[in-house]
Amino acid sequence: MKMFRGERLFTPGPVEIPDRVREVLSRQIVHHRTPEFREAFLETRELFKRLVGSQSDNFVFFASSGTGSMEAAIQNFFSSGDKVVAVVGGKFGERWSQLGKRWGLEVIDLEVEWGDSVDPNRVEDLIKKHPDCRGVLIQMSESSTGAYHDVKTLGEMLKERDTLLVVDAITALGVYNINPESWGIDVLIGGSQKAFMLPPGLSMLWFSQRSKERIQSRSYYFSVSEEVKRQTEGQTAWTPAVPLILGLREVLKILLDIGMDRVEQTYRTVAEGVREAVRSLGLKVFPKNPTISLTAVEPVEGLDAEAVRKEMLKLGVRVAGGQGKLKGRIFRISHMGVDPIDTVVALSALEMALKKLGKDIKLGTAVGAYMETVSDLL
Ligand SMILES: *Cc1c(COP(=O)(O)O)cnc(C)c1O
Repeated sequence: MKMFRGERLFTPGPVEIPDRVREVLSRQIVHHRTPEFREAFLETRELFKRLVGSQSDNFVFFASSGTGSMEAAIQNFFSSGDKVVAVVGGKFGERWSQLGKRWGLEVIDLEVEWGDSVDPNRVEDLIKKHPDCRGVLIQMSESSTGAYHDVKTLGEMLKERDTLLVVDAITALGVYNINPESWGIDVLIGGSQKAFMLPPGLSMLWFSQRSKERIQSRSYYFSVSEEVKRQTEGQTAWTPAVPLILGLREVLKILLDIGMDRVEQTYRTVAEGVREAVRSLGLKVFPKNPTISLTAVEPVEGLDAEAVRKEMLKLGVRVAGGQGKLKGRIFRISHMGVDPIDTVVALSALEMALKKLGKDIKLGTAVGAYMETVSDLL
């Protein structure tokens, strides 16, 4: 039963917003063509540079959801007819493939079993077969399956080739300590309502020096060259998502005050704890090599994932179901924006849901397994 607290979000986007950030978001709107906003905007850019560990000005914020920046990457760094490889191991991999095709690229789909992580050698073999391949499109954290793709190894592999590594890090940037420059990532994309713990409506696109040389704007709204020019001066080409920019500044301060190494380590421990908890209940962690931003769970013994999700929702705990062909097979618990102790709420709701669905479990099993794993954090 729900009482006073509304629904709690343990969904991989949107995620709950830290109180400090909600306070900033609730303020009266400020005009964007003012010295005050310009100063805030430039400070946000400086903080973002620290987040990605690079002094480069090659990045922009777009007033769009994450997909906007994915489309911008295709439009600005590739031409019609360019050959690219899209790693398709989930719903968001499919999105890369569809976006590329929509803009006239020759997309070679590298199909990966949903829940698996791509073997970097398969990418390398494919590129050797297609030496004219201009880019590899991939997710770092495939949120639909919970799988982690090893983009760091791919970065090493592609550094010496004329192939751009384009990484959708919408559930990774803000969770992992990512250093695109030293990892050899060419385009790195983030999204506000995921790891950045903001409302939806803002995306971030970082790009390497060699990508810059390829820029050609096929889009009017998503023109990277126009935006970079304006944004480095503290302005934006069009009206920016003002509250989200101010919120982003606050989020970046929070993340950088903790330190991205510690942020990543904390998420890693929480994710390990949740996996232990899931196994302690006799359920399965779905992906073989899971991301630390969320855990995709496959109930076994004839349990329906949707039934579990709905029981949890009755208790006020919202987790996400499976998407596409995984609908009904898995549910997904997000760790983004959740403090370690609060994950206990999701796990106890999971225990209760299973019990209500007739599974013989001892209450406290998952919570206990989780707490044992994360106790050093607390
Ligand atoms: C959520 C998500 C997207 C899409 O972002 P929108 O904000 O819904 O446009 C793309 N890729 C991944 C990995 C995501 O998790």
